[in-house]
Amino acid sequence: MSVSTATRQRRVAEPKPAASARRNVYEDVRFQFNKAADLMKLDPSTRKILGTTMNEVVIHFPVKMDDGRIEVFTGYRVQHNNALGPFKGGLRFHPAVNIDEVRALATWMTWKSAIAGIPFGGGKGGIQMDPSKYSVSELERITRRFTFALGNTIGPEYDIPAPDVNTNGQIMAWILDTYQSMMPANDRQRMLHVVTGKPIEAGGSLGRDKATGQGVVYLIREWAKDRKFELKGASYTVQGFGNVGSWAARLLKPFGSTLVAAEDVTGAIANEAGLDPDDLAKHVRAKGGVAGFAGAKPITHLAFLRTKADIFIPAALENQITAETAPLLNVRLVAEGANGPTDPNGDRTLFERKIDLLPDILCNSGGVIVSYFEWLQNKRSESWELQEVDCKLYRRIVDAYARVRETARQYKVDWRTAAYVVALARLEKVYRERGIFP
Ligand code: GLU
Repeated sequence: MSVSTATRQRRVAEPKPAASARRNVYEDVRFQFNKAADLMKLDPSTRKILGTTMNEVVIHFPVKMDDGRIEVFTGYRVQHNNALGPFKGGLRFHPAVNIDEVRALATWMTWKSAIAGIPFGGGKGGIQMDPSKYSVSELERITRRFTFALGNTIGPEYDIPAPDVNTNGQIMAWILDTYQSMMPANDRQRMLHVVTGKPIEAGGSLGRDKATGQGVVYLIREWAKDRKFELKGASYTVQGFGNVGSWAARLLKPFGSTLVAAEDVTGAIANEAGLDPDDLAKHVRAKGGVAGFAGAKPITHLAFLRTKADIFIPAALENQITAETAPLLNVRLVAEGANGPTDPNGDRTLFERKIDLLPDILCNSGGVIVSYFEWLQNKRSESWELQEVDCKLYRRIVDAYARVRETARQYKVDWRTAAYVVALARLEKVYRERGIFP
């Protein structure tokens, strides 16, 4: 059976999402969760537990700027669930970070780890700020002060942060260094796995930097196999040219597919004849965004969304594919590199328009999967070769894909709901086995 039969299923009697005007991603998560929980008749007690986050930490902390002024920042860490293992998930630095967004992102992490079959729960954090407005030394002080304020909220066996939007290996190295400095000397060397996504020299794993994009490409390849779709000669568009978008774009190129348009906060660009993703990544590193890339014409946001291509990889922020924008898409597959790029109205439209979807909690799980490998290597004082990391990532993510595909067939539902069912079934089982204390 091909993916088509799995994804183009009968219309289930679906609850109707609220109009797109309200944009609260945590409501979207609840909507997705309730839909899947109803469908699979999730045990009511498990449903109550998973329907809310476990711990929420909000910290207002002062940091000295280069000119001597003090600024007060707001940082968050939300821990959704740890039934399957320590809380795990990234930290983002962005002006739009708020408690509901972090709750949503933490919850998605729980589902993501459960689908991938790795022993982690879900957490997420961030600081509400625009990092481009600060010097490197200010960013370092902000990161270190936030880490200090978090204290024992994080820990190598308790809650393990990683990079997310606008954070990277350097920031993880500062977190590690600060966290270790807070520990008794004799314990410090056992703390390496308090964060993942570290630079290699600081205990990172080979292949972690590209892992999310690599996972996206492995799954696009699986989809293409199922669909009997030829990637050679295919076209794709990418929204967001940060870590995930640029790696996905670059790793898809060797299959003979062509990047025809790209978009980020600086604008959108297109060239039907193709944009070279490696050159574009260099341009973005030098200029801070895709705008002004030689060999492409600038286009509007709407023109970007309307671009005819086979595959669209949203790899930026939430709420990009909505009731308003989903009708504009002219693609066969949406492969979600970002977290939450499609809201429930967007999902409905994609489903009705028979556009295939690789949902975020499956599609972008390569990052946390290789974070798990980094964590294991740190715990065992090992360092794996790139080939080993890639091979293990491939096996895990393709297994997860197969589980979701099977579930979509079994329940005759869209792939996002199927992915939820896979996650929730695993969590339901662990609660049944372990019970609740006391
Ligand atoms: N921030 C990434 C995500 O959303 C990676 C999380 C991790 O590696 O812990 O999946």
